[in-house]
Amino acid sequence: MNKKARILVFTGNGKGKTTAALGLVLRAIGHQMPTFVIQFIKTGGATGELAALQQLPFVRIEQMGLGFVPPQEHPAFKRHKKAAQTALQKAKTVVNSRRYKVVVLDEVCNALDKKLISQNAVLSLIKNAPHSKIIVLTGRQAPHALIALADTATEMTCLKHGFESGRPAEKGVEF
Ligand code: ATP
Ligand code: MG
Repeated sequence: MNKKARILVFTGNGKGKTTAALGLVLRAIGHQMPTFVIQFIKTGGATGELAALQQLPFVRIEQMGLGFVPPQEHPAFKRHKKAAQTALQKAKTVVNSRRYKVVVLDEVCNALDKKLISQNAVLSLIKNAPHSKIIVLTGRQAPHALIALADTATEMTCLKHGFESGRPAEKGVEF
């Protein structure tokens, strides 16, 4: 029996981080593994994954962000920080609850990169996670210390993105 929780990181600039995490969620709930998805930064509820997961068994999803994060000196930054800290608190509760086996912290690496939450808080959450858990963290700029703690880390490399040739974000593909 492995004494450590399973820790997977999907990072990099290319498309596919959140959708990889959602693919894992689909696989896990197919095995009836109770799953919780916490989305940092994201808000608005217009995504297909939110609508889909709300209809599926064995999974809960909560968007806990306030959208586009302003620079640190902007007066609204504090509110974003507060929201991210609330999301991290929720993540601790969920990771340490017997109820959930799989926990996805979507865009948590962006929240770290934008200084909404502290690296130490995330690292200690991961280090102290019950060994039976499977934790997936996504977002650009995953810190080295997090990758060091993970057993599996994948960097999505952007070779091309439709956005660059003028394709707007498309339903079913980008959201
Ligand atoms: P997805 O949710 O499609 O798996 P992602 O999680 O890898 O993408 P994020 O960095 O979270 O990507 O970006 C959020 C949005 O930006 C998504 O709609 C995604 O499709 C889009 N996106 C991802 N990579 C790029 C890129 N290189 N250029 C422009 N837009 C991108
Ligand atoms: Mg993403």
